[in-house]
Amino acid sequence: MTVCYDLHSHSTASDGTLEPEELVRHACACGVQVLALTDHDEIAGLAQAEAAAAQLQLGFVPGIELSVTWGHKTIHIVGLYVDSDSTPLQAGIERLRVFREWRGEEIARRLEERGISGALEGARRHAAGQILSRTHFARFLVDNGNGKDVRHVFRHFLVQGKPGYVPGQWASLEEAVGWIRAAGGLAVIAHPARYKLSATRRRLLYGEFRDLGGHALEVVSGSHGRDDIRQQGQHARQFGLSASAGSDYHGPGQAYLEPGRLASVPEGCTPIWLTDAWAQAAALCNADADGASAAGESGLVPCPG
Ligand code: AMP
Ligand code: MN
Ligand code: MN
Ligand code: MN
Repeated sequence: MTVCYDLHSHSTASDGTLEPEELVRHACACGVQVLALTDHDEIAGLAQAEAAAAQLQLGFVPGIELSVTWGHKTIHIVGLYVDSDSTPLQAGIERLRVFREWRGEEIARRLEERGISGALEGARRHAAGQILSRTHFARFLVDNGNGKDVRHVFRHFLVQGKPGYVPGQWASLEEAVGWIRAAGGLAVIAHPARYKLSATRRRLLYGEFRDLGGHALEVVSGSHGRDDIRQQGQHARQFGLSASAGSDYHGPGQAYLEPGRLASVPEGCTPIWLTDAWAQAAALCNADADGASAAGESGLVPCPG
């Protein structure tokens, strides 16, 4: 029997709409057997999610999705089996949080110039004390009557060339892969088909990533079509990278697929969960967790589906 892996998802610790426990319960009800929580530049939801997963006997992978600037483009790097006690990872995340705060103020200032007031307070209300994301600004803009839904306001206000877009510098690729590796994790290029890159630049990115110690391409993503999966599968094989799979779930009614509704990893690719590095990262992570938590739980309930 094949195990249902979903290695990319978000909670209220970043721009998802479900609390970490709710997300875990929902994924489990959807038939996911191994879930990674990968909030944007944030690890605050991992402990709650891990505890909820242990109760449901759901396999849990502590993860993160780091924001990277590579050649003037924003690229997302997922880290899987990261140790949230890692100092370099924590310091890296802190820097990104500071940038997010500054950027949030700047987004609000630019929107104010267009006659839209109260954006920072509105976005902060949606973020509820967690990291501030463009998605929180989008939700405020929808509340404020500036567009019919999140996608619409993104297109009109928050993407490059629009009034509320603020360019800036996230982590470098080297830093992000380094923080993930320092935390004992495996680095994965998230939703690679979403980046608009020439064939030459794409090869450069994948080669650099592999040479830095990157491990996989997220060949199967909730945001990939069939052709994307086939093409990224070929790239993974060419570059000697393994293949990951994740829905990029952000909550009910948000973009992309429900958890676990993913296509299979294409023939000829090595799923990340079948690699030696995966087994090693899992063992390291579980050794760290032992003694710290997971003790004394009783009455475990198996997941349905
Ligand atoms: P940030 O990291 O704060 O710049 O926000 C990026 C997040 O915004 C992504 O992870 C998506 O969840 C969301 N996002 C980006 N572009 C769009 C879009 N065009 N429509 C809807 N959501 C988007
Ligand atoms: Mn997001
Ligand atoms: Mn992403
Ligand atoms: Mn994501």
